[in-house]
Amino acid sequence: MTLFSASPRIGIIGAGIIGLSAAYELAIRRGVRVTLYDVRTPGRGASWAAAGMLAPAFEAAAEPGVHPRLFDLCLAGAALWPEFADDLAARSGTRVGFDAAPSLAVALDAGEMCRLDAIAAVLAWKGIAHANLSGDQLRALEPALSRAVRSGLELSTDFRVHNRQTVEALLKVLRASPKVEFVSGPAPLKSIGGKLVLEGHNAILAAAGWETATIKVEENGELYSLVNWETALDDIECFGGQMLSVKALDGAPARVVRAGPVYLVPRGGEVVIGATVEPDRVIETPEPDVIEALRQDGARLCPGLADAPILESWAGVRPGTPDHAPFLGATATPGLFVAAGHYRNGILLAPLTAHILADCMLEHGTGELAGAFTTRRAYCPAA
Ligand SMILES: Cc1cc2nc3c(=O)[nH]c(=O)nc-3n(C[C@H](O)[C@H](O)[C@H](O)COP(=O)(O)OP(=O)(O)OC[C@H]3O[C@@H](n4cnc5c(N)ncnc54)[C@H](O)[C@@H]3O)c2cc1C
Repeated sequence: MTLFSASPRIGIIGAGIIGLSAAYELAIRRGVRVTLYDVRTPGRGASWAAAGMLAPAFEAAAEPGVHPRLFDLCLAGAALWPEFADDLAARSGTRVGFDAAPSLAVALDAGEMCRLDAIAAVLAWKGIAHANLSGDQLRALEPALSRAVRSGLELSTDFRVHNRQTVEALLKVLRASPKVEFVSGPAPLKSIGGKLVLEGHNAILAAAGWETATIKVEENGELYSLVNWETALDDIECFGGQMLSVKALDGAPARVVRAGPVYLVPRGGEVVIGATVEPDRVIETPEPDVIEALRQDGARLCPGLADAPILESWAGVRPGTPDHAPFLGATATPGLFVAAGHYRNGILLAPLTAHILADCMLEHGTGELAGAFTTRRAYCPAA
């Protein structure tokens, strides 16, 4: 531990899965004292709204316009999950619902078949095992699938976790740790003589999801946005998402199934059906017509879901960047680090993000891959 002092303390702003995982890595695994600030209930932002898919191939292998190394980052993130899930389950004494069963990406039409061909081509190029399957082969694996499913891929890279259980487990471990303090409210950031200061702390991690740019700094009695200290934060956009869960009755899928923007994620006794992607929208309450349309999309994939009772519907906000990849690591402002903008992969990337940030803060270093995700990168905006 070379960076700050013999006994550093780090202030983390935002207690979503990104801030909580960073606190877990720093405090629980590396013994560093942290303070976690949140202006709302910890863990109830996008991290609660998510579906829990850990899906490097589907999300990043062939997405147009995304950061050219996003797939590599997502693969590295997925590789950490089995150990992270075991460790967290053991320390918390609770389940986190990690399931390494391969996901199915299926096509009902020619357009989707092309998209899956593109994913398969990247996997083949990288030498990653996957299976191209006919509709009948897919139905043999997942009998709940509709007769309309024409073909698909079994993706051994893509699996799932129960994101809400994971957040609860992180909170349980962190709340029990003498190294961690939770503060309800904004972090009292100050600018003193041009220096960004959080009193009593050696470094600051900005991890407030889609609201990271709105973190405030006091200077001469006035409040200013943190964007003035890290202009890249201005590029974080919000992408609203709505979804629902239905009761898992006969005819519910046992594996994650995806077709284009629609997905089904079995989670305990329910099936999550998601999700909309609504740029520039912060949605407080799910809209009944949108939820009904999603439910019908879900039933097109697995007809057994058509009459399943709805258990819950909800909305959340994904934090996105122009290349749909997160900002990770040090900024140009001394002592200020960032971990935000994870878009559709925040659950997947949480353990890796925590590792990268802890390495960066405590040892002053980032690996070659992490170095491609700093706020100073040049990016090609995603389509
Ligand atoms: C509908 C939907 C489905 C998704 N599905 C998946 C999926 O299947 N797999 C996947 O990997 N990802 C998925 N995601 C994306 C994932 O949820 C996000 O990328 C991830 O949760 C972001 O985590 P976070 O900690 O950055 O943000 P959040 O969980 O939103 O946490 C940010 C925290 O910061 C706090 N905060 C805000 N402003 C301040 C401030 N000024 N001071 C202090 N605290 C502040 C908030 O109260 C909040 O608690 C999904 C997202 C949505 C919306």
